[in-house]
Amino acid sequence: MTQLRKSYFWSPSTWKLRLKHGSRTQSTTSTAEEFHSAHSFILNNHIDPMKNPVEERSEAVPRYSSSVYSEHEDACSPVLRLSNNKNKKEDLTGCLKRKMKSLTAPNQMAPNRRHSRPYAVSSGEWVLVPTTESSLGRIGQVLSLDDLTEMQFSYHFDTALKVFIKVYAMAKVMEVAFLSYGCELDNAETGLQYWIKHAEAEVRTNSLAVLIEVVENLFYALYSRVIIEMAGIELCALFKLQLRPAVGSRQFFLPDANHMYRLLLACKDNLDDTNVCESLQEGVVHQWQEGFLRRLALKEIEKGFNPDDMLGYRRFAQSIVSDPTCAYVAKWRSLVPFFDTIPSEILAVMSEKWFTVLPKVVLPDDVPSGQLPFVDLKRANPMQWEKEIILDYRLATLGKLEGRSIGEERRDDPKIRLLSLARCRKCICTSVCLCSWACTYRVKSACPCSERHVRIMMARRCKETGPFDFTIRANTAARACWEGLAMLRRDVKDDTILLEWREAFEVFELTIQKERWAD
Ligand SMILES: [Zn+2]
Ligand SMILES: [Zn+2]
Ligand SMILES: [Zn+2]
Repeated sequence: MTQLRKSYFWSPSTWKLRLKHGSRTQSTTSTAEEFHSAHSFILNNHIDPMKNPVEERSEAVPRYSSSVYSEHEDACSPVLRLSNNKNKKEDLTGCLKRKMKSLTAPNQMAPNRRHSRPYAVSSGEWVLVPTTESSLGRIGQVLSLDDLTEMQFSYHFDTALKVFIKVYAMAKVMEVAFLSYGCELDNAETGLQYWIKHAEAEVRTNSLAVLIEVVENLFYALYSRVIIEMAGIELCALFKLQLRPAVGSRQFFLPDANHMYRLLLACKDNLDDTNVCESLQEGVVHQWQEGFLRRLALKEIEKGFNPDDMLGYRRFAQSIVSDPTCAYVAKWRSLVPFFDTIPSEILAVMSEKWFTVLPKVVLPDDVPSGQLPFVDLKRANPMQWEKEIILDYRLATLGKLEGRSIGEERRDDPKIRLLSLARCRKCICTSVCLCSWACTYRVKSACPCSERHVRIMMARRCKETGPFDFTIRANTAARACWEGLAMLRRDVKDDTILLEWREAFEVFELTIQKERWAD
């Protein structure tokens, strides 16, 4: 299977197309129809298998940014600006290098060539990539770095750090997401949490070998977990259940399985990016997945299976998994080689977590939300509040006429002060945010996204790391980024989800650089 075909295979929309066009795997059972219809409402059909999605994406990404923070460039800390400048230079060098790389086919490369390309996960130039069956479950050992000059070292360190930032950001956001759905996060040596802790302990390291070792392991811990959870999420999405709160609700509710599938798919796309991973070691992924499932099964046996079957879901899940003609089973069998050996009870237990509506576990914040600098304008300055509310109604009316959200109208103002608006809990979200229409129609009510915006903008303005340790600050950053992804409207394009992930990378770049520069 070519890389391109395989990538289509992942997306629910491709699957739908395959079912539609009647390929060999088409099943006539009602389960296949279930599978089909369960996904139909999230498919905006903008993936056309005749077009190259990579091309489409790279064209679309820089064109539009949903970033709420980009206009605040001047509020950046000098620390970040310094590293930004540095990164720009490196981008140029990196670009040249990539051009050089494309001139030489990889198989013509001398076998023992070391460090001619920037670091990426499982790159044979940086780690010993296992080739024999017996060594498959092992992460590659870091090759000797003694050939690097001081200049080369610092160049390569910075590119490795970039990979670290991306992988760590995704791992943290996923950790927060998994915890809020009540998913198991264990501390095993191939587990996600184990490597997140390692990454946090080594965040200030100046050793390239240590950095690479952490990235390699964190990458595989995350990758293997994301894929296996996607199998559970997709199973959950097949079950039609209306547990969702009414649209426009002001509380934060966890996204449903369809949205989660798209968020994880985008995460997988980021991990598959050749700048992050050069050649995926599927053997490692499968071994780590098997380890995770084994531990999960042991834990469930220990607990004793909970006999109540929530709304008949377990019976439903088991009937799907045990039907070999089902489209779902065929898909996951080809993506996870040992899929048949996963006990259906375990799969059911894993997947029913995605019905969760209210966050189960929330990591503690650095600054408690009660201490954030919110302003109750109505109380503090009733005259000013009244004046502003009239203008706000005008903006909302204009927005309704133009089919835009109040946040977008506010952003038209060249003198806009995003932080002051967010501090008064006024909406600054663009129309890709779930809140945007409710905020446009209910001008006086508080925007549910204000806390997230205030936290990120405050962190961006503050030059120091503050009194909190890195892990706690990273938890807060991860939750803000997770809420940004969770609050995306369900009908946004794939590019918008990727952009939101990119915003998360920026937030984490700042958090990590601040930590590394602090004395
Ligand atoms: Zn809002
Ligand atoms: Zn928003
Ligand atoms: Zn919002």
